[in-house]
Amino acid sequence: MDDKNTENRRDRKDLMKKIIIAVLIVLLIFPNIISVFMLVRQAKLEDRINRLSDEIARMRLGTYGDIGRLSDEGRVAVIKAFPELMDSEPGERDTAIAELPAEAGEDEERPAAAGDAAGDKEETAFSTEDVVWAFSARGEIEEPAHKVYLTFDDGPSEYTDDILDILSRYGVKATFFVVGKESDADIELYRRIVEEGHTLGMHSYSHVYSRIYASEESFTADLDKISGLLEEATGVKPEFYRFPGGSSNAVSNLDMHRFIKILDDRGISYFDWNVASGDATRELLSSQTILANSTRGITERGTSVILMHDSVARPTTVQALPQIIETILNMEDTAILPITSDTEQVRHVE
Ligand SMILES: [Zn+2]
Repeated sequence: MDDKNTENRRDRKDLMKKIIIAVLIVLLIFPNIISVFMLVRQAKLEDRINRLSDEIARMRLGTYGDIGRLSDEGRVAVIKAFPELMDSEPGERDTAIAELPAEAGEDEERPAAAGDAAGDKEETAFSTEDVVWAFSARGEIEEPAHKVYLTFDDGPSEYTDDILDILSRYGVKATFFVVGKESDADIELYRRIVEEGHTLGMHSYSHVYSRIYASEESFTADLDKISGLLEEATGVKPEFYRFPGGSSNAVSNLDMHRFIKILDDRGISYFDWNVASGDATRELLSSQTILANSTRGITERGTSVILMHDSVARPTTVQALPQIIETILNMEDTAILPITSDTEQVRHVE
């Protein structure tokens, strides 16, 4: 009896040992299996994140600085929200991005034609702006501490295409306060400005101080002329105005408040500047001086509106522009933006 009991106990002990060893083996191996699985998964996700980052950089969400402003979760959320960006071939994606609507408001202007081909602009469900604002609203993209507005007066000119090319290269949007020019080439430039997502503002039709500021009637006639020309050219009614010489100009014999009232009555907002590139001086400034003038004090201000000129007489502005943009983009917590109705008003005369 004793022998049998001992044998039974030994058997049970052996079994227990085997179970413990088996459990230990499983406990040792299992984390390794899991970590291999996780590593593979991580590599796949990183690959997707990198591809998406490239995608977004190409989509020029870079207006807000760079993709670094999106958290990792933010980037993954973009993947989830816009799987179509991930599933198509690179070639197809480029086409899809090229067809994104330049302006969200554009769709309201144009009546939807029944016969529109598939893949037409109206068919696109979202724009890069939608993505930016969606993440901005969720706090995924922080409001930059320093907002910079590049503004170009007096165009269109022989340099407008060059300026637009440079802005496009950096994925930066600006504001053009233009005067009235009616050649086919100029009309095409108004259109290009709007199509590429910049703000097209008015800077009077004639730019002749003595005429514009002669009376309320002549100011209104000039305003109607430039507004009508731009709306007809682009389909977008201009909402922003820059007074020739600024609202603080010394040339108007009438109180500027009378002209400001005319703009107010029409819902047109006017902008002056608080940074002068100095590119309108009689003597042509070097591009180095324009660069220094344009980029001074930006990180000490919340809003910087930089005055520059799009004029055949100002080649050094165009030469300085790439470095101006690079310098600003390298500033901490700073973004280059086009003027919109959300922009903090910078005015010399209230
Ligand atoms: Zn001007």
